[in-house]
Amino acid sequence: MTATTAQAPILRARNVHKAFGSNEVLKGIDMDIAPSEVVAILGPSGSGKSTLLRCINRLEEINKGFIEVDGEQIGYKLQGDRLVALGSAAIARQRSKMGMVFQSFNLFPHMTVLQNVIEAPVGVHGVKRREAVELATGLIEKVGLADKLNAYPRQLSGGQQQRVAIARALAVKPKILLFDEPTSALDPELVGEVLATMKDLAKQGLTMIVVTHEIGFAKEAADRVIFMDGGHIVEQGKPEEILVNPQRERTREFLHRVL
Ligand code: ADP
Ligand code: MG
Repeated sequence: MTATTAQAPILRARNVHKAFGSNEVLKGIDMDIAPSEVVAILGPSGSGKSTLLRCINRLEEINKGFIEVDGEQIGYKLQGDRLVALGSAAIARQRSKMGMVFQSFNLFPHMTVLQNVIEAPVGVHGVKRREAVELATGLIEKVGLADKLNAYPRQLSGGQQQRVAIARALAVKPKILLFDEPTSALDPELVGEVLATMKDLAKQGLTMIVVTHEIGFAKEAADRVIFMDGGHIVEQGKPEEILVNPQRERTREFLHRVL
Protein backbone atom coordinates (compact mmCIF):
# COMPACT_ATOMS: atom_id res chain seq x y z
CA MET A 1 0.00 0.00 0.00
CA THR A 2 1.17 3.49 -0.71
CA ALA A 3 -0.34 6.90 -0.66
CA THR A 4 2.06 8.43 -3.13
CA THR A 5 0.96 9.00 -6.69
CA ALA A 6 4.09 10.83 -7.79
CA GLN A 7 5.31 7.93 -9.94
CA ALA A 8 4.17 7.46 -13.52
CA PRO A 9 0.91 5.50 -13.54
CA ILE A 10 1.12 1.78 -14.28
CA LEU A 11 -2.32 2.00 -15.89
CA ARG A 12 -3.89 4.88 -17.76
CA ALA A 13 -7.41 4.73 -19.16
CA ARG A 14 -8.74 7.65 -21.15
CA ASN A 15 -12.27 8.22 -22.38
CA VAL A 16 -12.93 4.49 -22.56
CA HIS A 17 -16.19 3.60 -24.25
CA LYS A 18 -17.62 0.14 -24.67
CA ALA A 19 -20.97 -0.87 -26.10
CA PHE A 20 -22.56 -4.23 -26.75
CA GLY A 21 -24.75 -3.52 -29.76
CA SER A 22 -26.86 -0.53 -28.76
CA ASN A 23 -26.19 -1.08 -25.04
CA GLU A 24 -23.61 1.50 -24.02
CA VAL A 25 -21.91 0.00 -21.00
CA LEU A 26 -18.84 2.20 -20.47
CA LYS A 27 -19.44 5.87 -21.24
CA GLY A 28 -16.07 7.55 -20.99
CA ILE A 29 -13.96 6.11 -18.20
CA ASP A 30 -10.81 8.01 -17.15
CA MET A 31 -8.61 6.27 -14.63
CA ASP A 32 -4.97 6.33 -13.54
CA ILE A 33 -3.54 3.66 -11.28
CA ALA A 34 -0.20 4.27 -9.57
CA PRO A 35 2.31 1.46 -8.96
CA SER A 36 1.46 -0.37 -5.71
CA GLU A 37 -1.91 1.31 -5.52
CA VAL A 38 -4.88 -0.73 -4.33
CA VAL A 39 -8.16 0.45 -5.80
CA ALA A 40 -11.56 -0.91 -4.85
CA ILE A 41 -14.33 -0.48 -7.41
CA LEU A 42 -17.85 -0.47 -6.01
CA GLY A 43 -21.14 -0.05 -7.78
CA PRO A 44 -24.51 -1.61 -8.44
CA SER A 45 -24.96 -4.67 -10.61
CA GLY A 46 -24.87 -3.77 -14.31
CA SER A 47 -22.86 -0.58 -13.84
CA GLY A 48 -20.01 -1.86 -16.03
CA LYS A 49 -17.44 -2.97 -13.43
CA SER A 50 -16.72 -6.38 -14.95
CA THR A 51 -16.70 -4.92 -18.44
CA LEU A 52 -14.09 -2.38 -17.36
CA LEU A 53 -11.82 -5.14 -15.99
CA ARG A 54 -12.38 -7.21 -19.12
CA CYS A 55 -11.44 -4.25 -21.31
CA ILE A 56 -8.29 -3.67 -19.26
CA ASN A 57 -7.05 -7.17 -19.94
CA ARG A 58 -8.43 -7.17 -23.45
CA LEU A 59 -11.00 -9.89 -23.03
CA GLU A 60 -13.18 -7.17 -24.59
CA GLU A 61 -12.17 -4.66 -27.23
CA ILE A 62 -13.02 -1.02 -26.53
CA ASN A 63 -14.84 1.21 -29.03
CA LYS A 64 -13.22 4.50 -28.19
CA GLY A 65 -10.45 5.93 -26.01
CA PHE A 66 -7.40 3.99 -24.91
CA ILE A 67 -5.99 1.89 -22.11
CA GLU A 68 -2.28 1.81 -21.43
CA VAL A 69 -0.59 -0.66 -19.11
CA ASP A 70 3.07 -0.34 -18.24
CA GLY A 71 3.55 2.16 -21.05
CA GLU A 72 1.97 0.01 -23.78
CA GLN A 73 -1.40 0.65 -25.32
CA ILE A 74 -3.60 -2.43 -24.94
CA GLY A 75 -4.35 -4.00 -28.32
CA TYR A 76 -2.12 -1.68 -30.34
CA LYS A 77 1.51 -0.85 -31.01
CA LEU A 78 3.19 2.18 -32.44
CA GLN A 79 4.70 1.58 -35.87
CA GLY A 80 6.51 4.74 -36.85
CA ASP A 81 3.88 7.30 -35.94
CA ARG A 82 0.93 5.01 -36.65
CA LEU A 83 -1.01 2.82 -34.22
CA VAL A 84 -1.36 -0.70 -35.55
CA ALA A 85 -3.71 -3.35 -34.13
CA LEU A 86 -1.89 -6.23 -32.49
CA GLY A 87 -2.32 -9.88 -33.46
CA SER A 88 -3.52 -12.51 -31.03
CA ALA A 89 -0.03 -13.59 -29.88
CA ALA A 90 0.93 -10.02 -29.00
CA ILE A 91 -2.39 -9.51 -27.24
CA ALA A 92 -1.80 -12.68 -25.23
CA ARG A 93 1.60 -11.31 -24.21
CA GLN A 94 0.03 -8.02 -23.07
CA ARG A 95 -2.70 -9.87 -21.22
CA SER A 96 -0.10 -11.90 -19.38
CA LYS A 97 1.14 -8.70 -17.71
CA MET A 98 -2.10 -8.83 -15.74
CA GLY A 99 -3.35 -11.46 -13.39
CA MET A 100 -7.10 -11.89 -13.20
CA VAL A 101 -9.05 -13.55 -10.42
CA PHE A 102 -12.69 -14.28 -11.17
CA GLN A 103 -15.70 -14.86 -8.99
CA SER A 104 -15.85 -18.48 -10.13
CA PHE A 105 -12.19 -19.52 -9.54
CA ASN A 106 -11.84 -21.05 -13.05
CA LEU A 107 -9.18 -23.58 -12.05
CA PHE A 108 -8.42 -26.44 -14.43
CA PRO A 109 -10.32 -29.32 -12.79
CA HIS A 110 -8.09 -32.08 -14.21
CA MET A 111 -4.87 -30.47 -12.92
CA THR A 112 -3.42 -30.46 -9.43
CA VAL A 113 -2.86 -27.24 -7.51
CA LEU A 114 0.79 -27.17 -8.56
CA GLN A 115 -0.04 -27.91 -12.21
CA ASN A 116 -2.64 -25.12 -12.22
CA VAL A 117 -0.12 -22.61 -10.94
CA ILE A 118 2.76 -23.55 -13.30
CA GLU A 119 0.55 -23.82 -16.38
CA ALA A 120 0.85 -20.22 -17.61
CA PRO A 121 4.54 -19.66 -16.77
CA VAL A 122 5.54 -22.88 -18.55
CA GLY A 123 2.90 -22.93 -21.30
CA VAL A 124 2.71 -19.22 -22.18
CA HIS A 125 5.94 -17.66 -20.91
CA GLY A 126 8.38 -20.47 -21.63
CA VAL A 127 9.73 -20.55 -18.08
CA LYS A 128 11.72 -23.73 -17.38
CA ARG A 129 9.65 -26.27 -15.52
CA ARG A 130 12.00 -26.56 -12.57
CA GLU A 131 12.10 -22.80 -12.14
CA ALA A 132 8.30 -22.53 -12.45
CA VAL A 133 7.80 -25.27 -9.85
CA GLU A 134 10.07 -23.45 -7.43
CA LEU A 135 8.22 -20.14 -7.88
CA ALA A 136 4.80 -21.84 -7.75
CA THR A 137 5.65 -23.74 -4.59
CA GLY A 138 6.59 -20.48 -2.90
CA LEU A 139 3.36 -18.82 -4.01
CA ILE A 140 1.23 -21.74 -2.90
CA GLU A 141 2.93 -21.56 0.51
CA LYS A 142 2.27 -17.84 0.60
CA VAL A 143 -1.47 -18.37 0.19
CA GLY A 144 -1.34 -20.95 2.98
CA LEU A 145 -1.76 -24.15 0.95
CA ALA A 146 1.67 -25.80 1.18
CA ASP A 147 0.00 -29.08 2.14
CA LYS A 148 -2.27 -29.05 -0.94
CA LEU A 149 0.31 -28.98 -3.76
CA ASN A 150 -0.88 -32.26 -5.23
CA ALA A 151 -4.57 -31.93 -4.46
CA TYR A 152 -7.18 -31.47 -7.20
CA PRO A 153 -9.57 -28.51 -7.13
CA ARG A 154 -12.57 -30.72 -6.27
CA GLN A 155 -10.77 -31.75 -3.08
CA LEU A 156 -10.56 -28.13 -1.91
CA SER A 157 -13.04 -25.74 -0.34
CA GLY A 158 -14.14 -22.70 -2.33
CA GLY A 159 -11.88 -20.47 -0.25
CA GLN A 160 -8.90 -22.73 -0.88
CA GLN A 161 -9.67 -22.85 -4.61
CA GLN A 162 -9.82 -19.08 -4.74
CA ARG A 163 -6.45 -18.85 -2.99
CA VAL A 164 -5.01 -21.21 -5.60
CA ALA A 165 -6.47 -18.93 -8.27
CA ILE A 166 -4.66 -16.01 -6.62
CA ALA A 167 -1.37 -17.96 -6.59
CA ARG A 168 -1.93 -18.79 -10.26
CA ALA A 169 -2.53 -15.14 -11.10
CA LEU A 170 0.70 -14.22 -9.29
CA ALA A 171 2.75 -16.88 -11.07
CA VAL A 172 3.17 -14.75 -14.20
CA LYS A 173 4.61 -11.91 -12.10
CA PRO A 174 1.85 -9.54 -13.21
CA LYS A 175 2.18 -5.77 -13.22
CA ILE A 176 -1.42 -5.52 -12.08
CA LEU A 177 -3.79 -7.93 -10.38
CA LEU A 178 -7.45 -7.64 -11.35
CA PHE A 179 -10.09 -9.14 -9.07
CA ASP A 180 -13.73 -9.44 -10.13
CA GLU A 181 -15.86 -10.05 -7.02
CA PRO A 182 -13.44 -12.70 -5.78
CA THR A 183 -15.49 -13.58 -2.70
CA SER A 184 -19.03 -13.35 -4.07
CA ALA A 185 -19.33 -17.06 -4.81
CA LEU A 186 -18.02 -18.17 -1.43
CA ASP A 187 -19.89 -19.38 1.62
CA PRO A 188 -19.76 -16.58 4.21
CA GLU A 189 -17.38 -18.47 6.50
CA LEU A 190 -14.80 -18.75 3.69
CA VAL A 191 -14.75 -15.08 2.70
CA GLY A 192 -12.35 -14.04 5.46
CA GLU A 193 -9.45 -16.28 4.42
CA VAL A 194 -9.54 -14.96 0.85
CA LEU A 195 -9.74 -11.34 1.97
CA ALA A 196 -6.83 -11.95 4.36
CA THR A 197 -4.73 -13.25 1.47
CA MET A 198 -5.64 -10.20 -0.60
CA LYS A 199 -4.78 -7.84 2.26
CA ASP A 200 -1.36 -9.51 2.52
CA LEU A 201 -0.75 -8.85 -1.17
CA ALA A 202 -1.86 -5.25 -0.78
CA LYS A 203 0.66 -4.76 2.03
CA GLN A 204 3.41 -6.25 -0.10
CA GLY A 205 3.01 -3.49 -2.64
CA LEU A 206 1.17 -5.26 -5.44
CA THR A 207 -0.91 -3.10 -7.73
CA MET A 208 -4.51 -4.27 -7.42
CA ILE A 209 -7.87 -3.34 -8.86
CA VAL A 210 -10.58 -5.07 -6.88
CA VAL A 211 -14.25 -5.07 -7.83
CA THR A 212 -15.98 -6.01 -4.61
CA HIS A 213 -19.01 -5.57 -2.42
CA GLU A 214 -16.85 -6.10 0.67
CA ILE A 215 -16.94 -2.64 2.17
CA GLY A 216 -14.70 -3.81 5.03
CA PHE A 217 -11.97 -4.78 2.58
CA ALA A 218 -12.29 -1.45 0.78
CA LYS A 219 -12.02 0.39 4.07
CA GLU A 220 -9.01 -1.50 5.41
CA ALA A 221 -6.98 -2.37 2.34
CA ALA A 222 -7.75 0.10 -0.44
CA ASP A 223 -5.88 3.34 -1.06
CA ARG A 224 -8.75 4.59 -3.15
CA VAL A 225 -12.38 3.72 -3.72
CA ILE A 226 -14.04 4.27 -7.08
CA PHE A 227 -17.83 4.25 -7.24
CA MET A 228 -19.30 3.39 -10.65
CA ASP A 229 -22.86 3.69 -11.83
CA GLY A 230 -24.39 3.57 -15.31
CA GLY A 231 -21.04 3.26 -17.07
CA HIS A 232 -19.53 6.31 -15.38
CA ILE A 233 -17.18 6.88 -12.50
CA VAL A 234 -19.55 8.82 -10.28
CA GLU A 235 -17.23 9.52 -7.40
CA GLN A 236 -13.81 8.49 -6.10
CA GLY A 237 -11.47 9.21 -3.25
CA LYS A 238 -9.93 7.83 -0.08
CA PRO A 239 -12.01 5.07 1.51
CA GLU A 240 -12.75 7.20 4.57
CA GLU A 241 -14.12 9.96 2.33
CA ILE A 242 -16.21 7.85 -0.02
CA LEU A 243 -17.46 5.28 2.46
CA VAL A 244 -18.11 7.57 5.38
CA ASN A 245 -19.02 10.82 3.74
CA PRO A 246 -20.05 10.28 0.11
CA GLN A 247 -20.92 13.45 -1.79
CA ARG A 248 -23.18 11.96 -4.44
CA GLU A 249 -26.71 10.78 -3.82
CA ARG A 250 -26.18 7.65 -5.94
CA THR A 251 -23.17 6.64 -3.84
CA ARG A 252 -25.11 7.22 -0.63
CA GLU A 253 -28.04 5.14 -1.85
CA PHE A 254 -25.76 2.29 -2.84
CA LEU A 255 -23.90 2.28 0.45
CA HIS A 256 -27.18 2.29 2.39
CA ARG A 257 -28.21 -0.81 0.50
CA VAL A 258 -25.01 -2.80 1.03
CA LEU A 259 -24.07 -1.72 4.55
P1 ADP B 1 -21.26 -5.21 -13.43
O1 ADP B 1 -20.02 -6.04 -13.41
O2 ADP B 1 -21.05 -3.84 -12.87
O3 ADP B 1 -22.41 -5.90 -12.79
P2 ADP B 1 -21.19 -5.72 -16.26
O4 ADP B 1 -19.96 -5.07 -16.75
O5 ADP B 1 -21.14 -7.19 -16.06
O6 ADP B 1 -21.68 -4.98 -14.94
O7 ADP B 1 -22.39 -5.47 -17.24
C1 ADP B 1 -22.80 -4.20 -17.67
C2 ADP B 1 -23.77 -4.33 -18.80
O8 ADP B 1 -23.11 -4.90 -19.92
C3 ADP B 1 -24.97 -5.21 -18.53
O9 ADP B 1 -26.09 -4.57 -19.08
C4 ADP B 1 -24.65 -6.49 -19.25
O10 ADP B 1 -25.82 -7.12 -19.68
C5 ADP B 1 -23.85 -5.99 -20.43
N1 ADP B 1 -22.87 -6.99 -20.93
C6 ADP B 1 -21.78 -7.40 -20.28
N2 ADP B 1 -21.08 -8.31 -21.00
C7 ADP B 1 -21.78 -8.47 -22.16
C8 ADP B 1 -21.58 -9.25 -23.34
N3 ADP B 1 -20.52 -10.06 -23.48
N4 ADP B 1 -22.49 -9.15 -24.31
C9 ADP B 1 -23.57 -8.33 -24.20
N5 ADP B 1 -23.81 -7.56 -23.13
C10 ADP B 1 -22.94 -7.61 -22.11
MG1 MG C 1 -19.63 -7.88 -12.55
